[in-house]
Amino acid sequence: MDKRKLFSKLPKVDDILSNKKIKDLIENIPRDIVVETVREEIEKIRKGILENKYTLDNLDEDVKKIYNSIIKRSNIKINLKLKKVINATGTVIHTNLGRSLISEEIMENIKEVSSNYSNLEYDLDKGMRGSRYSHIEDIIKRITGAEAAMVVNNNAAAVMLVLSTIAKEKEVVVSRGELVEIGGSFRVPDVMEQSGAKLVDVGTTNKTHNSDYETAIGEETAALLKVHTSNYRIVGFTKTVELDDLVNIGRKYDVPVIEDIGSGVLIDLSKYGLQYEPTVQESLKAGVDIVTFSGDKLLGGPQGGIIVGKKKYIDKMKRNPLTRAIRVDKFTISALEATLKLYLNEKDALKKIPTLNMITQSLNKLDEKASKLYGMLESKNENINLEIVDQYSQVGGGAMPLEEIPTKAIMIYSDEINVSVIENKLREFKIPIITRIYKDRMYLDLRTINEKDFNNIVDGFKYALKQDK
Ligand SMILES: *Cc1c(COP(=O)(O)O)cnc(C)c1O
Repeated sequence: MDKRKLFSKLPKVDDILSNKKIKDLIENIPRDIVVETVREEIEKIRKGILENKYTLDNLDEDVKKIYNSIIKRSNIKINLKLKKVINATGTVIHTNLGRSLISEEIMENIKEVSSNYSNLEYDLDKGMRGSRYSHIEDIIKRITGAEAAMVVNNNAAAVMLVLSTIAKEKEVVVSRGELVEIGGSFRVPDVMEQSGAKLVDVGTTNKTHNSDYETAIGEETAALLKVHTSNYRIVGFTKTVELDDLVNIGRKYDVPVIEDIGSGVLIDLSKYGLQYEPTVQESLKAGVDIVTFSGDKLLGGPQGGIIVGKKKYIDKMKRNPLTRAIRVDKFTISALEATLKLYLNEKDALKKIPTLNMITQSLNKLDEKASKLYGMLESKNENINLEIVDQYSQVGGGAMPLEEIPTKAIMIYSDEINVSVIENKLREFKIPIITRIYKDRMYLDLRTINEKDFNNIVDGFKYALKQDK
């Protein structure tokens, strides 16, 4: 086939741009984006010609289709990239999927504060400049029993600020078993180095004794740091220094004890059948000087790093210039305040904070949800097999790493279609559905699926199983 003849059939950019449909498109989408897409679509065909994919007939077909491709792809380019997905994995605090959800009720508060002017840094009593931290300090103090509190952008920033304020150019003693990496980007030794503190690691990976800390303390020691090994446990022949002992050592040598407890648990969840996870209140009661934790893990609020503890240290942190660089915005403050308010009544917290609500969802409720979704999916899909099965959900976010919470899931398998093909399609659905695949079976864990999304899931499967696509 003479390629020159094929090339001569390639549409020109200007011709496409003067087409009525494309002109209409430019009314709604920036011209640059449309032109770029036009060029890309022509280029695709040009490449096809070079690769000998075309005869005159099928070239004509693709040239006719070019307008619809341009419209579709230009629209995709202006779609928002960050969007809602359905989490069917059962991992409640899923760092890749946005960690904790903010309830509609709390969104109302954020909306009111953020779409209007607010007293973010204005003292309404005095009629003058105020502090953005004042709005939440009292409630954090009330809930945790701390002397003072402040909030920064995330827990990594909190740890950095604490160390930079208390231990810059001085030594911080940490157990070797706690030099962990959390979530791929938070490495205790790296954060410490960034803060300007010098790491002194003591003990071994599996065992650290009281005497290890005592021997390491010297002139240059500014603090003892304890890190909750959130996403990791050493089991078997182990020894860690109890918090009480660490506090006693700190007192004896007059060095502050800092604890990064990671997931900020404010309610003892073992009452609800979950694994025991140390609470912020207990750490403070044990006498820890400074405790830091995340806002969007088990606390169930917005991204944030909360620092609680002795006023003399927190006052110094508030004056540290680093604080300005990691300060929270009004979205965080309004969401956090509204979330914390729910903790004033434990029942409210469990019911209205989505993370806590999902974690403590009863098996009965999960079973009920599973039956309902099963019914909706079964009636519509003949080429897949469905079964309600017992499974385990995970808390996630580095909290309770060994905890497996019994749950109900819908298991999907098929002789006709590979489930990973379905998984792929569900991910490209307009509301992407993220599922779990294990040994050629797909699982939809009801714990993290909101009933409001059942219809969307049915539509997602309809899309995924469409034969002609
Ligand atoms: C999750 C975690 C962090 C990091 O917290 P972010 O809020 O994600 O910055 C730090 N330390 C511990 C122990 C954690 O579990």
